[in-house]
Amino acid sequence: MKRPAIFMDRDGTINEQMGYINHLSRFVLLPGVQNAIRLLNENDFLAIIVSNQSGVARGYFPMDLVTSVHDYLRKSLEKRGARIDGIFFCPHYPAGPLPEYCHDCDCRKPKTGLIDQAREAFDIDMEGSYMVGDRHTDLEFAERSGLKGILVKTGYGLGEIEFILPESPLKPVYIAEDLLDAVRWILSRKKRNGE
Ligand SMILES: [Mg+2]
Ligand SMILES: [Zn+2]
Repeated sequence: MKRPAIFMDRDGTINEQMGYINHLSRFVLLPGVQNAIRLLNENDFLAIIVSNQSGVARGYFPMDLVTSVHDYLRKSLEKRGARIDGIFFCPHYPAGPLPEYCHDCDCRKPKTGLIDQAREAFDIDMEGSYMVGDRHTDLEFAERSGLKGILVKTGYGLGEIEFILPESPLKPVYIAEDLLDAVRWILSRKKRNGE
């Protein structure tokens, strides 16, 4: 049975934008995220994170750190009854010091490899799915993946909305205060449309 998914960017959408999250101490959940994810769980949406973590390829932090951050994220959410269904990330970068991670991959957003990975793991109703992020590249990623895009004002959001969005042919279906607002909007829209 296909289920719709909410694909979420990580830095600036789930946690505070602090440049590279190169230490666990820099990973700070944004307000309302636990509630947002719990609402998705209760309404039978898959909650999936899609994130670029090129700091690995750049040699700024090891792959292990990304794993620790994601373990911590899952545990923090579980304490509040919220569950992330999947986390897919791109550790690559075209040029950098670590040959194993430095190539022109197909999974660095806005390329759509992370969506392909998610669709291999889950049976996803793409029609009913959304992408939520704080960067214009997240909108571009949504467009290329056939997802409806939502921008949040957290992270780089305010600046992207003010300076990048007006010049772009891409338009989000909604501009949200934060992830919780985005999720509430999606759920009310679904109810209105009687989906
Ligand atoms: Mg971001
Ligand atoms: Zn990649």
